[in-house]
Amino acid sequence: MGARQKTIGIIGAGIIGVALARALQRRGRQVTLFDEREPGTATSFGNAGYIATEAIFPLAHGAVLRSLPRMLLNPLGPLAMRWQEFPRLLPWYLKYANACSHRRAADSIHALATIQGEAGSAWETFKTAERLQDLVVANGAMMIYESDRGFKETSIRREVQRHYGIESQVLSGDEARGEIPELSNRIKHAVIYPDGKHVVNPYSVTTAIFDRFVGDGGNFSKQRIDAIETKDGHVRNIRAAGETQNFDFVVVSAGHLSGRLLKPLGYKVPIVAERGYHLEMSHRETRLNRPVGAYERGFHITPMSSGLRLAGTVEFSSADHDEAPNWGRADILKRHIGEIMPDLAETETGRWMGQRPTMPDFLPVLGNAPGLENLYLAFGHHHLGLTLAPVTAAIMGDLIVTGTPSIDIEPFNLRRFS
Ligand SMILES: Cc1cc2nc3c(=O)[nH]c(=O)nc-3n(C[C@H](O)[C@H](O)[C@H](O)COP(=O)(O)OP(=O)(O)OC[C@H]3O[C@@H](n4cnc5c(N)ncnc54)[C@H](O)[C@@H]3O)c2cc1C
Repeated sequence: MGARQKTIGIIGAGIIGVALARALQRRGRQVTLFDEREPGTATSFGNAGYIATEAIFPLAHGAVLRSLPRMLLNPLGPLAMRWQEFPRLLPWYLKYANACSHRRAADSIHALATIQGEAGSAWETFKTAERLQDLVVANGAMMIYESDRGFKETSIRREVQRHYGIESQVLSGDEARGEIPELSNRIKHAVIYPDGKHVVNPYSVTTAIFDRFVGDGGNFSKQRIDAIETKDGHVRNIRAAGETQNFDFVVVSAGHLSGRLLKPLGYKVPIVAERGYHLEMSHRETRLNRPVGAYERGFHITPMSSGLRLAGTVEFSSADHDEAPNWGRADILKRHIGEIMPDLAETETGRWMGQRPTMPDFLPVLGNAPGLENLYLAFGHHHLGLTLAPVTAAIMGDLIVTGTPSIDIEPFNLRRFS
């Protein structure tokens, strides 16, 4: 008789948990995925669908910190503060300010650029293996700039991107309008990222992978995990609805709710729910066939199978408190598209709010839980969960099965906050 197959329980079936479940299954492991909701229906449902492998600048750096007052004073700006939550979030803001220091930000850029360096090829491998060709489009992406200032202040970023092998092409406003005639005259500059990709429906991506996982014998259990139980430096059980289940390894990929699960084990996880919104709109016939990011306005416009998706904006909120969406933030997106592509969008067809799982340094948490050798963590992917899902799955799959991930994941360990 062969050795007993190691069992793995994964808590959270968003894009991160589902991609990892599939990666571990492909490595021959027996995996049970837990979620209190249907897979892919939380934050992974409504994102902008942009596979943004050029995004190597975490939002925790001095330039962003310095521009916060300007952003907060602009009611149409990309950032809104929920002042009633300010006292509760103060410790997170202080950690954020600390992560913006020159040295820490430089380390974070290097860490993010390293994982992003593998993210594009991980997506290619994943797309082929999971037969996602109909859902992934490789037409590049465009960033548009309405001000000379915005364009100039990002020139250093393009240099750093080149240093990490990320290609870009600079266009004038008129050249950009040659590509997408609906762009208004407000657009003064644009940058094309030829390697950018997007998905035409993020929810379909998660469910396609999930269906293959279940089809090949993976288990899904629709229940909320109430506790992770430990003994002698090991996770023993996970508990749901009063019953316990035993696994050799447990992974927490519960998005912004990951901290809530880890707190009883003594981990202080500085995570917030960074709320963002999308609006979907029907549109006129257009040559817009790639995601377009509006730099000053902080949102993306992505052509999806369901119409045009306008997605973005930032509203920091405590991870443990579920407050009603502030739909005024979504309405702002409609106003934005009216100003930058006035002839494109027609009728609104849907709106949504999602909660990005965000750490103060805008890096994910990946690796072993400090002090518990069979507990693993994969959460905190903030604005980049779709982009980083396949590479996270590959890295964590290797870590759990062989103990050796393909890149140094020490910068992503939760220990960095202790
Ligand atoms: C407006 C917006 C636009 C975005 N655009 C992009 C983009 O273009 N590109 C990109 O790469 N990323 C984008 N993102 C970010 C991306 O959507 C997230 O990083 C990603 O969805 C996070 O995935 P996740 O699996 O960690 O979390 P989730 O999708 O939230 O999944 C976590 C799951 O854990 C479950 N769970 C939690 N606690 C428990 C428990 N105790 N028991 C059982 N289940 C539990 C939840 O029910 C949930 O289903 C965007 C986000 C927003 C809000």
